Amino acid sequence: MIAVSQFSGKKVALFGLGGSGMATALSLAAGGAEVTAFDDNAESAARAADAGIEVADLRQADWSTFSAFVLSPGVPLTHPAPHWTVELARAAGVEIIGDVELLARERRAVCPDATLIAITGTNGKSTTTALIGHLLKAAGRDVEVGGNIGRAVLDLAPLAPERFYVVECSSYQIDLAPTLDADIGLLLNLTPDHLDRHGDMDHYAAIKERLVEGAKLAVVGADDAYCVAIGDRLAASGHELVRISDDRSHIARGLAFDGGAIVSVDDGSVVADLSNHPVLKGAHNGQNTAAAIAACRAAGLSDDEIRDGLATFPGLAHRMQPVVRLGKVVFVNDSKATNADASAPALKSFGDIYWIAGGRAKEGGITSLKPYFPKVTRAYLIGEAADAFADTLSGAVDAVICGTLENAVARAAEDAAQSDAAAPVVLLSPACASFDQYRNFEKRGDAFVSAAMALEGAKPFTAGEA
Ligand code: ADP
Repeated sequence: MIAVSQFSGKKVALFGLGGSGMATALSLAAGGAEVTAFDDNAESAARAADAGIEVADLRQADWSTFSAFVLSPGVPLTHPAPHWTVELARAAGVEIIGDVELLARERRAVCPDATLIAITGTNGKSTTTALIGHLLKAAGRDVEVGGNIGRAVLDLAPLAPERFYVVECSSYQIDLAPTLDADIGLLLNLTPDHLDRHGDMDHYAAIKERLVEGAKLAVVGADDAYCVAIGDRLAASGHELVRISDDRSHIARGLAFDGGAIVSVDDGSVVADLSNHPVLKGAHNGQNTAAAIAACRAAGLSDDEIRDGLATFPGLAHRMQPVVRLGKVVFVNDSKATNADASAPALKSFGDIYWIAGGRAKEGGITSLKPYFPKVTRAYLIGEAADAFADTLSGAVDAVICGTLENAVARAAEDAAQSDAAAPVVLLSPACASFDQYRNFEKRGDAFVSAAMALEGAKPFTAGEA
């Protein structure tokens, strides 16, 4: 845990006691602050009270006594309407901040030599964050990875001068981090998303821009109009900047994806060949990889270290992750795909697919995936959605109702083993929530891996083999 000492002896209000809120409350308390926390969810509040945090209804609190208000990034600061705690904090003139801000302040005050790398963008944040973490770790650096990707930032190992903190930031977290000053800040891309929570695209882009503006070195994408404009503004103000792109023709200098490789546009040299990479497929991953390489170079890694690390990047768990090999059949865990849109990239990326889908369906089911049905050799349907999905697939894809994931894995493995194709894939990409059969998508993905590993002759998939 990183104990935040900046509010030692002071009173701090905190709202939102989910994962990161709880870690933040404990961190502030460990640093000597007097924390008053609250959550509408009685269970979360009770858990915090059990952990020794003072829980009290902030409607009844005397806000004039608080030095700061820490808000969970899941709670609206501005749109669609400020949360009632935000109104109370504003009325009392109490500053409103989040956990990433607390990390930035603590680092500045007690350990400025710890390296902070912050990543944002509309898409690719988690991939790029995990990749940077992996490259640094593979090169023997002391690395902590957290933020929006999973572990709360204040739950990471204590600040130390040689330690690298690789932090994925959502726009909500940046909105709550007014003095965020990363050593290296990355902005991958900007497309309309979450506008319900940010008002309009200009406001959303302005929040994201702050992350790179505040960083010593900015790494900025060049593949959409908003990022291009942000890069131009940074360049005009003399900011240290590396541009990255998913297409070499978009930039005159920097790192770009070109013909399956990442090239240095300045001199045309190939920095890394991704053409046979098992995980980093597609131009979007070219953008992510170019960004990660730019960050790791700036963090002091050699190109050899970067290339060695890239070769062993296993991908993100539960996201189009090759997990098991059985003969020529590869089993891919895409359990994170909890709706049809999220399943599209996996169906797009593979051919000869033995597709395991189903669970608790979202509105629209899998109708939007029709363009990819020709790539599916057979479908194995599980959970509540099985009958409805069978109807949608009818006439286009042969479908088998399997009920459970274990049955589906066994049936799919049997069929895939008979395939004449060079690289048949058993793909769990459910296009459904998991809650009818599992606690969450992680448990579902783990169950898939276990079922596949239990097959005779199955071996864990190792990155590095194409
Ligand atoms: P995020 O953390 O920003 O949600 P992820 O790295 O988890 O992003 O990727 C989620 C999905 O977004 C991927 O499965 C892929 O379909 C898509 N994606 C990943 N990187 C990019 C990118 N650079 N540009 C556009 N889409 C991307």
